[in-house]
Amino acid sequence: LAKANGRNTVKLFNPNDPHNSDDTENVAALLNIAIEKDLVSLVYQPIKNLSSDRIEGVEALMRLRLLDGTLVPPSIFIPIAERTGAIMDLGLWAVRTACQQVIRCDRMAVVSVNVSPIQLKSPGFATSIAAILGDVGVSGGRLAFEITEGLEMDMNSDVLRCISDLKTLGIKIWLDDFGTGFAGLSWLRLIDFDTVKIDKSFLHDGMTPRGKAMLSDIIGLIRNRGHKILVEGVETAEQLELLKELRIDQVQGYYVGRPAPVDKLRDCSAPYLPRTGLMRPA
Ligand code: C2E
Ligand code: MG
Ligand code: MG
Ligand code: MG
Repeated sequence: LAKANGRNTVKLFNPNDPHNSDDTENVAALLNIAIEKDLVSLVYQPIKNLSSDRIEGVEALMRLRLLDGTLVPPSIFIPIAERTGAIMDLGLWAVRTACQQVIRCDRMAVVSVNVSPIQLKSPGFATSIAAILGDVGVSGGRLAFEITEGLEMDMNSDVLRCISDLKTLGIKIWLDDFGTGFAGLSWLRLIDFDTVKIDKSFLHDGMTPRGKAMLSDIIGLIRNRGHKILVEGVETAEQLELLKELRIDQVQGYYVGRPAPVDKLRDCSAPYLPRTGLMRPA
């Protein structure tokens, strides 16, 4: 694997490294022991409601640390985990951990967890989730699952039944990265998503007149179908102003808050006091 240059050096995993195929195999092997060896963790990125101007939830994002301290981004290790099947255990671990950590910190917040299509296809997934909710003592209404639109997935009857079972548990189903693939529109026909997350690429194009018109058309389409709208990737005050003008429900992005470990969530030390805001000031 990529060698760290010094003892505490954290080097970004480089997918273009000539030793990449070795790296891929090593990551694959590591993913099988990642939970027991404590190599995976979750960071949480705030989700802000634009009309109330309050943080009302967080998205859980997975991180993998190699034995030498190298951080591997999820864009690299999630596809590997999907290929080897390690995503099943990692995915359940993420739901359990997110419930335990966020629920302990904040009784108001909804936590959204990214879910791979492979998990939705697997029989018994909804049953496992129900068991976790029971174990942790959390209601499904505190959870949202994000499904990425860009991914190829045939919405067959097994997947649709799984989604409907999850909804019965009270879990909200969100469509992630809307606009990055061709699946989004047909999925909107099949699934009653609570919230649609518009991919950050639209926002980044959205500052030109053409991009703005495009963004506003897409928002109209989603809104007319009765879904709530979240725009991700807000990096500037100007972008935030545009989204306020467009009356977007929720926003996420570095300008609103970066992903951070659980101890940065509000009131972790005093879980039973009334809350005023989810995140401590930076
Ligand atoms: P995503 O679910 O669309 O998450 C948003 C990604 O954009 C995150 O990258 C986040 O750190 C990044 N981001 C947030 N705000 C901004 C911003 O203002 N500008 C820019 N340029 N980027 C921003 P991250 O954490 O590297 O995750 C990448 C993807 O990996 C996620 O995209 C998600 O699809 C996947 N992923 C992460 N954790 C999990 C997981 O637990 N399970 C599964 N199945 N997938 C995961
Ligand atoms: Mg997501
Ligand atoms: Mg995604
Ligand atoms: Mg996304």
